[in-house]
Amino acid sequence: MSETLFQKIAARQIPAAIVYEDDQVLAFRDIHPQAPVHVLIVPKRVIPRIAEAGPQDQALLGQLLLKAAEVAQILGLANGYRLVINNGPDGGETVPHLHCHILGGRHMAWPPG
Ligand code: 5GP
Repeated sequence: MSETLFQKIAARQIPAAIVYEDDQVLAFRDIHPQAPVHVLIVPKRVIPRIAEAGPQDQALLGQLLLKAAEVAQILGLANGYRLVINNGPDGGETVPHLHCHILGGRHMAWPPG
């Protein structure tokens, strides 16, 4: 299996503005930000998308959300933020390595586009 784009970022083969890293997750700034703060948080162990996650991924998925909240705090998003996971073509997924978008720094409209 070839490495995903986000594995290459984690391996420092592709540069990115990394804002947080531990043994399980990596967080870095999105290259095409959709808000003043737009960070992706990614589990280092590849799950292609949330639809392909299973019971064996339960702890990692919980960790991803808890770390997303921690990273949002580190980023100073005290007034709120939005977490987004895109799944499949209709969900707008473009990188097949599960990731959660952390969007903040402006008011987020609802419904989303
Ligand atoms: P998705 O559309 O799969 O939910 O999100 C993928 C995200 O990865 C997009 O927001 C896109 O801008 C971002 N992205 C794609 N290529 C790169 C890259 O090389 N570096 C960084 N930092 N972000 C990327």
